Amino acid sequence: MAEEKEIRPVLEAKNLKKVYGLNTRNEFEALHKINFKVMPGEFVGVMGPSGSGKSTFINNISTIDRPTEGRVYINGKDVQTMSEQEIGHFRHDNLGFIFQYFNLLKTHTMYENIAMPLALGKTDPKDIQERVEAVAKELNIFELLNKKPLECSGGQRQRAAIARALINNPTLIVADEPTGNLDSANSNSLMKLLRKLNQEKGVTVVMVSHDPLVVSYTTRLVYLRDGNIEKELIRGDMNQKEYFRAITDISSVESEGVFEI
Ligand code: ADP
Ligand code: MG
Repeated sequence: MAEEKEIRPVLEAKNLKKVYGLNTRNEFEALHKINFKVMPGEFVGVMGPSGSGKSTFINNISTIDRPTEGRVYINGKDVQTMSEQEIGHFRHDNLGFIFQYFNLLKTHTMYENIAMPLALGKTDPKDIQERVEAVAKELNIFELLNKKPLECSGGQRQRAAIARALINNPTLIVADEPTGNLDSANSNSLMKLLRKLNQEKGVTVVMVSHDPLVVSYTTRLVYLRDGNIEKELIRGDMNQKEYFRAITDISSVESEGVFEI
């Protein structure tokens, strides 16, 4: 019998539930048994109204927070069964993070910030230098490596944050509102860059954004409402403009109830 070679998901969440303030008066279920799967090379956008659980979702699928119930598998590995120390190593080897506020250390140079994840491992200094320089060239911040973050623009800082996320060749990049502090020109060039890395290097990305234009660079939209996945939209053959319109239709439903006529 011919063997079927199954492609393994990069990420799989099964019955993912998150309750804040468990067993207190303020108990609040922010995610209700969500099932979610990401295949290699996907670029998934997560949208939803404010408070719908986007950040909770992204934190719980990426080891930043621990779910109350359910299972999360990253590259087939059950994250829940790992100790904090194992999770630290696992993150280092598998995941890259990009946040809204860049999270760069202002006392360190751009070079040191980008190299940070490698400094925690056992990478040879020569190798570190080569990798930092290569990724900095790719992201067009090579000339800035000796500067401190505050001497650089917002767009340049966010590119350094991406360089830091990429330095370990992670299989999954997780981003929460990565363009939240960028103007529209920088935000578009950042998305072009992420899309290029996704298409050319096969980097898998899960990204939260409230901006339909930003999400129009993805390959799939997951729309959350009140802690559930309410809708999904696959880009498929749509061009970016068509996909953008479809995303706008889904995400503008919020406003409908507000208009009087
Ligand atoms: P979003 O990112 O979509 O705006 P969040 O994931 O931040 O939403 O929050 C989802 C819900 O969970 C909100 O109602 C929020 O008030 C609540 N929540 C988020 N973090 C906490 C927390 N640490 N403790 C209690 N409730 C929280
Ligand atoms: Mg949020």
